[in-house]
Amino acid sequence: MPTLFERIISGEIPGDFVHRDDQVVAFRDIHPRGPTHLLIVPVKPIPTLNDVTEADTALLGRMVTLAAELARREGIAEDGYRLIVNCNRHGGQEVYHLHFHLIGGKPLGPMVSV
Ligand code: AMP
Repeated sequence: MPTLFERIISGEIPGDFVHRDDQVVAFRDIHPRGPTHLLIVPVKPIPTLNDVTEADTALLGRMVTLAAELARREGIAEDGYRLIVNCNRHGGQEVYHLHFHLIGGKPLGPMVSV
């Protein structure tokens, strides 16, 4: 059963893509939590951050450098932004295909609500 993000990557479900290569894609979150809210997603469907291995080190590095590049492109790098990975139930993960949230464009407030 393909993940929601695999279905977006394959084109079965529409996505507002801002980047695409053979390893990583980025598209706009459908429920943005800020003026910029991008999802940075490996093409390979790793379920959670718990599932990454040493073999994924270069891929994860690519996702981070892409995040910085996209922040610059979105014009939010200088003011700042947040890069978030939600993992499993306590992390509030809804889609079990690893992704980074890149959120910015306004002050984001406290890191977590308590
Ligand atoms: P997470 O809770 O970290 O798993 O985040 C999943 C994110 O996917 C949420 O922020 C959703 O708003 C987003 N999302 C769900 N469906 C879509 C979609 N069809 N296109 C873009 N983003 C989506």
